[in-house]
Amino acid sequence: MRIGIDLGGTKIEGLALADDGREIERRRIAAPRGSYEHTIRAIVELVAAIERASLAGAALPSAAMADPKVGVGIPGAISPATGLIKNANSTWLIGRPLAEDLSRALGRPVRLANDANCFALSEATDGAAAGAAVVFGVIIGTGTGGGLVVNGRLVAGANAIAGEWGHNPLPSPEDNERPGPRCYCGRSGCIETFLSGPALARDYIALGGDDLSAAEVASRADGGDRRAIACLERYERRFARAIASIINVVDPDVIVLGGGLSNLSRLYANIPRLWAPQVFSDRVDTQLVRAKHGDASGVRGAAWLWPASATAPS
Ligand SMILES: [Zn+2]
Repeated sequence: MRIGIDLGGTKIEGLALADDGREIERRRIAAPRGSYEHTIRAIVELVAAIERASLAGAALPSAAMADPKVGVGIPGAISPATGLIKNANSTWLIGRPLAEDLSRALGRPVRLANDANCFALSEATDGAAAGAAVVFGVIIGTGTGGGLVVNGRLVAGANAIAGEWGHNPLPSPEDNERPGPRCYCGRSGCIETFLSGPALARDYIALGGDDLSAAEVASRADGGDRRAIACLERYERRFARAIASIINVVDPDVIVLGGGLSNLSRLYANIPRLWAPQVFSDRVDTQLVRAKHGDASGVRGAAWLWPASATAPS
């Protein structure tokens, strides 16, 4: 058994996972906002509560429960140079040695990874891309995070930014896409500023539509609203251009989509039709699929930072 923690900006989710991928116990608490010390304490208490509940359930022999290893998905990255958290929108984590402090507080080794990386690892381990050699996972929601898994192993990268395709510029921009919207990263025209949920909602307004959420725009498109259909078609063309550049570089077997916009079933039929002209190949066998574990993939992937083989006695 291992424990996964998904540290979000507003909630912390914890999960005990058996070697076969079975969920033993899952809990969710509100995240203490603004305090690093309270965040550490909340995680320690959540881990203890999950351990107690797992033991009480007696789903496993108690020997298998002794100090299970802990993996944590974070909304940011660990700087390989300093070991400190960077790129976190939970800003109270930035510059802190979270892995070290959590290991000390929990009295055991802790592995940390970016939350989109955890998503990709979950889907590559026992999700929609299980068994595939090269898996690119994308979360399209408030942002457009990404993660890369090769032969079952997460590729974090020399700068801990592998998979962060969202802050590349949108490829082959048309005149009305240049320079593109300002991005919080300081640049303009980033892929994220076109493909996130808020970006889709903004684009609907730009086309003369109402101020709606991305999901509402999609439901209007389903109902035949021409403007919403035009908005989604434009979204799909942009997505195809953006993801084709990923295919040209890492050539994944499977691309898995998670996050709110991954529920748009039309994406899976339309985008692969649109990406072919952008990919440097006579045919494209890459599959575009929806996440199997949905919102649970973040916390499951955090647990799988300790793969089943690594926790077996050696
Ligand atoms: Zn950006």
